[in-house]
Amino acid sequence: MRSTEIRQTFFDFFTERGHRPVPSSPLIPADPTLLLANAGMNQFKPYFLNEAEPEFQRAVSVQKCARTSDIENVGRTTRHATFFEMLGNFSFGDYFKPEAISWAWQLFTEGYGLDPDRLWITVYVDDDESEDIWRSIGVRPDRIQRLGMADNYWSMGVPGPCGPSSELCYDRGPAFGSEGGPAADDERYVELWNLVFMQSIRGEGPAKTGYPILGQLPSKNIDTGLGLDRLAAILQDVTTVCQTDLLAPTLETVQGLAGRRFPGHDGSEESVSFQVVTEHARSIAFLIADGVLPSNEGRGYILRRLMRRSIRHARLLGVTDPVLPAVTASVVANLGPAWPELPAQAALIEQVVSAEEETFGRTLRQGTRLLDAAIGRARGAGSATLPGETAFELHDTYGFPVDMTVEAARAAGLSVDEERFRTLLEEQQRRAKTHGRGRTAAALARLDAYREISAKSGLTEFVGYDATEADS
Ligand code: ATP
Ligand code: MG
Ligand code: MG
Ligand code: MG
Repeated sequence: MRSTEIRQTFFDFFTERGHRPVPSSPLIPADPTLLLANAGMNQFKPYFLNEAEPEFQRAVSVQKCARTSDIENVGRTTRHATFFEMLGNFSFGDYFKPEAISWAWQLFTEGYGLDPDRLWITVYVDDDESEDIWRSIGVRPDRIQRLGMADNYWSMGVPGPCGPSSELCYDRGPAFGSEGGPAADDERYVELWNLVFMQSIRGEGPAKTGYPILGQLPSKNIDTGLGLDRLAAILQDVTTVCQTDLLAPTLETVQGLAGRRFPGHDGSEESVSFQVVTEHARSIAFLIADGVLPSNEGRGYILRRLMRRSIRHARLLGVTDPVLPAVTASVVANLGPAWPELPAQAALIEQVVSAEEETFGRTLRQGTRLLDAAIGRARGAGSATLPGETAFELHDTYGFPVDMTVEAARAAGLSVDEERFRTLLEEQQRRAKTHGRGRTAAALARLDAYREISAKSGLTEFVGYDATEADS
């Protein structure tokens, strides 16, 4: 089943059951406490908190999500992307566990035709009620596992709504890992769909290990999230999200640039690089289309980091030509029909990535000079370690990825004080967090400038970037 049909089947199933189709919110959320949209429920938060009255009690959506926290997983697991589409159905004080559970099962087994023998269910350790419902619709008891707070309990804010969750996982077979259900192996038993039963109010305490429940919400709500990429991988019988029809044409483009085939998801560094370049291309295109521009803090830094990681991994694959314009163009061509903002902003995407790739090429050369000098100094002083400060300066000023510094130092027989580097980085990220959340006037002005240039000049040479970078 193609991704277009997967989306449509989801919409049809839930609209037939009285759900209002709601468009995805932009990746830049209205919610000022959130850097980027990371779940379908984000745009409905005011309804769950009873801060606003919804016009409808049931909704269905396909939400654009970004999760930079998964960046290091890309290409290392088969199932994590930094951008993905989340299919979701929602109840605002309307239906609750019985409907949410039985509909999920029905859609999976009938709508998508998934083999019930391959499905596994997780429920929260104390949630007898959910387990009873799963059993009552015919799920085998030995396919239901109880997990703790870290996996099967959801919350948002303190004090804020919370509740147990239940997840549907798919057994991909022994080639993907060891037996024992989702509790034992999350690559073999891949998590597809999370059903959250929002019913209580949480108090102060550690998120993963426990906090007091202060009371019950006035209404019980449903919030679900089904990863389109993961479901597509199963229904299209491919190993990684990069091989689904959502990303396959982009993987094809990367293979063309590299002049060789993707070796498959085999754990090699080459395999990781293919997947990083492919996967990041989509995040980059969507972030720019939604108005994020590269900078050194907040969202702009996330975008910059994705672009630089892509370029770096393309270099590791031996690509010396520009990579970002070609890979993002393939994303626009492939996903444009589903997401019109991509073709609408194609010129802007092209200009931003071209400018960034050119700037990065320059800083790579400057950074290399600084690095060589630092290596020379360390050697001259008889030291075996490059200071964390050097790695940080290379990262901060020249956008030099730290793994590149580590590699170059290693080639010269030196190690890097990575602990010191991380400390400096954390301090800087804390600063970015407190300053980078709102969209600043400067960032908005820069966006307008880009759009204006883009509208005027089409795809001609882009000159505005360096001039406006200083205020980022
Ligand atoms: P995992 O445990 O595999 O990291 P999760 O528990 O963090 O997933 P949820 O927060 O429950 O994921 O999100 C709901 C659904 O969104 C998941 O069940 C999955 O299908 C999908 N999803 C989550 N993170 C990603 C990601 N990084 N890339 C692709 N799909 C994802
Ligand atoms: Mg996760
Ligand atoms: Mg999980
Ligand atoms: Mg989950």
